[in-house]
Amino acid sequence: MTDVVSTAPPSSTGSNTADVAALIMELQAVGMRIETTLETSRKGGAGPSDSGMLWVEGVPVTVPPSADSPYALRAEDGSQGIYLHGVKVASVSGTSRPRFYDLTTADGVPYHQIALLHLDSLASTVVQTCNYWGNSDQCGFCGIGLSLASGATIAKKTPAMLAEVAVAAKELDGAVDATLTTGSSVAPDRGALYVARCGQAVKEAAGLPVEVQFEPPRDLTVLDRVHDMGIDAVGVHIESFDPAVLARVAPGKFRTGVDRYFQTWERAVEVFGEGRVSTYVILGMGEDPDLTVEMCRRAVDIGVYPFVVPLRPVAGSLMEHVPAPSREYTEPIYRKVAGFLAARGLGADTAVAGCARCQACSSLNLVQRAGAAPPCASPTGATRPAPLLQIGRRN
Ligand code: SF4
Repeated sequence: MTDVVSTAPPSSTGSNTADVAALIMELQAVGMRIETTLETSRKGGAGPSDSGMLWVEGVPVTVPPSADSPYALRAEDGSQGIYLHGVKVASVSGTSRPRFYDLTTADGVPYHQIALLHLDSLASTVVQTCNYWGNSDQCGFCGIGLSLASGATIAKKTPAMLAEVAVAAKELDGAVDATLTTGSSVAPDRGALYVARCGQAVKEAAGLPVEVQFEPPRDLTVLDRVHDMGIDAVGVHIESFDPAVLARVAPGKFRTGVDRYFQTWERAVEVFGEGRVSTYVILGMGEDPDLTVEMCRRAVDIGVYPFVVPLRPVAGSLMEHVPAPSREYTEPIYRKVAGFLAARGLGADTAVAGCARCQACSSLNLVQRAGAAPPCASPTGATRPAPLLQIGRRN
């Protein structure tokens, strides 16, 4: 512990889970000014996150950078802290560059172009292309093509490359699991078998638990084949339960349909077990909060972990100018969903690997640990954010 000063509103004493949860919800809503070096940031990539990654009071967190935020990340003697109006509210660690980033493969590919360390999770988009990218189906929050265009990564990682990097990430930087995702494919398996082959190689080489993420395969027996490769957990991400939002923000996923996601999850839970199947649910895209809570309850009831996260738009994505949702909007939803998870016996620990295990992009697990609202499906009290009028969609 350091000389953390407890101030209101939210501050952290470092010892109270509810205080830390409140601070992290606030940081993820308003972002943080970076007034020092933060070498653990993520830009672009598949999905909805553009963030700095750090440990706040020992809790893994992703926080979007924001020049306008009242919160500032500052250097201290040998460490860093988060300040609000000149007062330190939390200690920070884990912001130095991972050591494996300085290595290269025998044929000269830098390890950091193959996978990144997201706090303590090795993460890679194994195929950096998507059949929805660059056309009218592109997901508004996604940046998969941006990091490829910038040269930060390579288009396709091989199982051998990922295995080599995973061993180094574990030995040099303490990676505890691997999270592998892929752009969507038009193939019947939607890319699931290739990302699973990559996961199998990582697990065999480094012994890390592995989550792989993909869109619903056309043939659900693909899930058995993914499991047979030794994969521990899967993420099949619907992103929003509100069909109107999905139609506008992720048209390809809208066409897949909510029912198909549920069919996929049900089969996946049969194969992988309760809590080892998760889905991203992004807040702040104009969704109906009560519908969102009710559908999260339905997902939890079949053993699926709905990983509820605030939108933090990727710079350069179609939604780059959409603001993150406020803590006043996200907190009631977290509390409801955390109650459902607690009642079902699900949590970050049951996820074993991947985003739901890491939890850095959400306060859901902290809210659950702090004690959530009793599980019921009553209205959230959350105010529906204004509908998005435009997201700069390509045609
Ligand atoms: S399906 Fe959507 S979120 Fe996933 S990689 Fe493709 S465009 Fe990005």
